[in-house]
Amino acid sequence: MIFQEPMTALSPVHTIGDQICEAIILHADTNEEQAAEIAVEMLDKVGIPNPQSGLGQYPFEMSGGMRQRVVIAMALACAPEVLIADEPTTALDVTIQAQMIRLIKSLQRDLATSTLLITHDLGVVAQLVDYIAVMYLGRIVEQGDVRAVMKDPRHPYTIGLLESLPSLAQGKERLSSIEGNVPGLAERPPGCPFHPRCAHADPGVCDRGDPPLLHPIGEGRMAACVRLEEIHGGDVE
Ligand code: SF4
Repeated sequence: MIFQEPMTALSPVHTIGDQICEAIILHADTNEEQAAEIAVEMLDKVGIPNPQSGLGQYPFEMSGGMRQRVVIAMALACAPEVLIADEPTTALDVTIQAQMIRLIKSLQRDLATSTLLITHDLGVVAQLVDYIAVMYLGRIVEQGDVRAVMKDPRHPYTIGLLESLPSLAQGKERLSSIEGNVPGLAERPPGCPFHPRCAHADPGVCDRGDPPLLHPIGEGRMAACVRLEEIHGGDVE
């Protein structure tokens, strides 16, 4: 697993080398020397300069971005069959981010590693996964093939998310955003949880009862909205 916050995921009292090698020794048939070689190779792959001396460093001696790369190296060192990545590239600059995406993609291709990516970064999603589940207030509101959802989002929340992405083709006009804020867990609205922020909400319909359930909308896709037909002019398949 790649954890989101490397400062708490890494032990502050053990060197980087000890922490990566422990995982390798526990899961692969290696001695300490071989594990150290693999650790150096992994640190090099994730872009740690001078990886040999990096092994002797403690997490507090590294920047946030460097620590994030160490956590990624640790997760990938044993060539996992399943990788759970929680915001794996958030702390990284775009160059290192691209490098990490390439590394995870090469694992997916060469070792058939399945990746469960948890992120708010739709750009990373588009590059790394085949299937997407969009969540709002802890519930899935839309799911399906990633390309189909990105190209033709159906749920108003997914539409709002995609419209708020900056585009190079866009001029100087203000970026669109979803009105309001995410409510606290104790203030969960009745009915559709998204209704206080939804431009299509129908008073008396969307703001009462249980949250809408996911229902099929064709091509292996599903969405949880009671007004899809009105919003998309009957074209929900
Ligand atoms: S159910 Fe109503 S409030 Fe919820 S997303 Fe659909 S239109 Fe908006």
